[in-house]
Amino acid sequence: MPEQWHGEVDGHRFYFRERHDEWRVELDLRPSGRFVQAIASTANDGTVSSQARQVDERDVIAQGTTSAEGYGTRPVERAQFIVDTIRIHLLRQACTYHSDDLSSIATALGVQVRWCPACGTRLLAR
Ligand SMILES: [Zn+2]
Repeated sequence: MPEQWHGEVDGHRFYFRERHDEWRVELDLRPSGRFVQAIASTANDGTVSSQARQVDERDVIAQGTTSAEGYGTRPVERAQFIVDTIRIHLLRQACTYHSDDLSSIATALGVQVRWCPACGTRLLAR
């Protein structure tokens, strides 16, 4: 059985899934407009009735293995890991600092700036 969590962090609906030591976090679940037939019920005579169910779509914002730092072993640790992962993602998305010209910082440091000093996003070499 995979480990699965559903919930909401800071107004964003998420889905977390771990199986065979690999996990991912999906965020901003929304209706996709695609439907699948799902079993709704089975009658005593074996008749199966199905119902159309809309498939959610969402963005994978993070993935990794269970050896990731902070992954933890207890449910409370896992909940904290998921919340932290989502909040770091949201912080980095909202940060405008790293899209600015950081050359003055690079000059002051005397090295290339590889990480955003405000949110920690990794910056590509320019
Ligand atoms: Zn940033």
